[in-house]
Amino acid sequence: MKTVQDYIRTIPDFPHEGIMFRDVTTLFSDPRGFRMAVDQLLHPYMDQKIDKVIGLEARGFILGGAVAHQLAVGFVPVRKKGKLPGKTIAQDYKLEYGEATVEIHDDALQAGERVLIVDDLLATGGTAAAGIHLVEQLGAVVVGCAFVVDLPELGGRKHLTDMGMSVHTLCD
Ligand code: IMP
Repeated sequence: MKTVQDYIRTIPDFPHEGIMFRDVTTLFSDPRGFRMAVDQLLHPYMDQKIDKVIGLEARGFILGGAVAHQLAVGFVPVRKKGKLPGKTIAQDYKLEYGEATVEIHDDALQAGERVLIVDDLLATGGTAAAGIHLVEQLGAVVVGCAFVVDLPELGGRKHLTDMGMSVHTLCD
C-alpha cells in the first residue's frame, strides 16, 4: 500500500538552482493520498479538545481547512502581510535571504482557545514559530503543530520543541 510519502514528488532547482522542492500538489490531487494525509495529520489531536485550526499560507490552508472540517471546528488563516482585510496583528520572521511578515486577524481567536497549527512542510521552523507567536499574542494556546513533511537537516523540529511545542510530521 502506498504511503503519504509516495504521493509527494521532488522538483529539482525550484524556486532556485540547487533547491530540491518537495511538491505536495501530487499528494493533494490524489483522492486516497489527500484523505490519508488529512486523517494522519489530525489523528493525534482527535481527543485534544481543539477549538480552532490555524493554516499557514498557502498550502496550510488546503490541509488546515480539511483538518478543521474533520474535527468540526473553525479555521483561521495566518497570511502574508497585507492580505487580510480586517484589523490584524503582525509577526516578523527570518527567511534564508531577508525577512517576511505574517498576520492574523486580531479577533480570530479568543483567550484560552486550544489551537492546532497546520502546514505542508517544516524546514527551519521560522514560519511556524511566527504563527505560534501570533496565536500566543492573542492569548490562545498552541496544542500542537502538524506538518506533512519534515526536512530534519534544517532543524525545524528542534526549533519548535525548544519552544515547548508538540510537533507531528508524517514523513521526512
Ligand atoms: P520554514 O519557515 O523554514 O520552516 O519553511 C517552511 C515554509 O516554507 C512552509 O510554509 C512551506 O510551505 C515552505 N517550503 C519550504 N520548502 C518547501 C518545499 O520544498 N516544498 C514545499 N514548501 C516548502
